[in-house]
Amino acid sequence: MVNTEVWTSLATSLAQKNVTLVAVSKTKPVADIQELYDLGQRDFGENYVQELVEKQAVLPQDIRWHYIGHLQSNKVKFIAPFVHLVHAVDSFKLLQEINKQAEKNNRIINVLLQVFIADEETKFGLSNKEVIELMDYYEAQKDELRNVHICGVMGMATNTEDEQQVRAEFDQLFAVFTNLKQSYFLGKAYFNTCSMGMSSDYDIAIDAGSNMVRIGSMLFGARSYNN
Ligand SMILES: *Cc1c(COP(=O)(O)O)cnc(C)c1O
Repeated sequence: MVNTEVWTSLATSLAQKNVTLVAVSKTKPVADIQELYDLGQRDFGENYVQELVEKQAVLPQDIRWHYIGHLQSNKVKFIAPFVHLVHAVDSFKLLQEINKQAEKNNRIINVLLQVFIADEETKFGLSNKEVIELMDYYEAQKDELRNVHICGVMGMATNTEDEQQVRAEFDQLFAVFTNLKQSYFLGKAYFNTCSMGMSSDYDIAIDAGSNMVRIGSMLFGARSYNN
């Protein structure tokens, strides 16, 4: 069940703050997506390739699809023709594959580097050191990587009630974003996205500098994975 009142007030307040709302529709039916689309929502997030491909085929073509899950290199080709932003690049190999598939489709694919900020072992992402390593590879091969734009960073905070910890983790991610901008992307207008914040912590994330939040359950209700 879509919570249209929540969407309306959230979309309004985020627009005032220049924060992009990505409605995370994973596991939810196309009818729910269409309902938010009809209200004006255009950015939707999914985290399974097959589910995304099936939904993209039947929904309006001007939806901006965000791939927010862990992406395997051998699946990039399925979403390369249409994906708007890949949020979770966590290896140079994946970046190269996205570039290759973007070139085949004669387009530029926008990506974010996923940075590991949480105090949990289950979350994917690059450590600060790995971010620098990836950027060194990128710098060395920039001329070949013309079909991919690194537009910023994405991260997930620890799932905890401790708001100070969540805030500290988001502060850390925002610092990575600022440092990357200064060290590698000065003058590159496309490097402009700090994707952090979900249903439970988006207000803290925005305080810490987020300009893109990924919100699922608050809009679509709790997810059930058995159907
Ligand atoms: C599922 C998911 C979200 C949305 O989570 P909610 O708690 O439902 O808002 C955000 N980001 C990523 C990467 C996700 O996988």
